[in-house]
Amino acid sequence: MRPYSFCPLCSTRLDNAMIDGRDRMFCPACSWVHYINPLPVAVAYTLNKNSELLVIRRAHEPALNEWALPGGFLEAGEEPHEGCLRELMEETSLTGTIDQMIGIYHHEVELYGSLLVVAYRVMVNDDAITINHELFDAGFFASHRIPEIRIPLHQQIIRDASVLESGR
Ligand SMILES: [Zn+2]
Repeated sequence: MRPYSFCPLCSTRLDNAMIDGRDRMFCPACSWVHYINPLPVAVAYTLNKNSELLVIRRAHEPALNEWALPGGFLEAGEEPHEGCLRELMEETSLTGTIDQMIGIYHHEVELYGSLLVVAYRVMVNDDAITINHELFDAGFFASHRIPEIRIPLHQQIIRDASVLESGR
């Protein structure tokens, strides 16, 4: 994420200073401060009736071409669980229901900076997939056949989901 050079309100060149305990860019003319907050993302750990996990291969950055769990940015005004199901629907045409929350995580990616990730377990009855342009591939896999997922956060979500399942 590239830092701002100019104030988005009055176009004055920004300066930096310690503000609320962090080094931040601010506008010396109008006092606007660039607070950088994480972007909220929802991730779907999605199971079909055979307890197979939905894994997708990403067709865009970050993690282009990597196998991953589906998900995406929440829209303003959207409940996190609704955003989770909307992203699942957009990417795979699957209609799911939220079963439970797996966890909330911080994740840092070069393209967007800091992310706040909410992961839900989602159940689907009909598992016929139609992928959109954001994906190269998608499928449901039994636990011993899941393609290699190299995104550490998604590995963590899968581990945390298994702990939940073993505790049922
Ligand atoms: Zn300004």
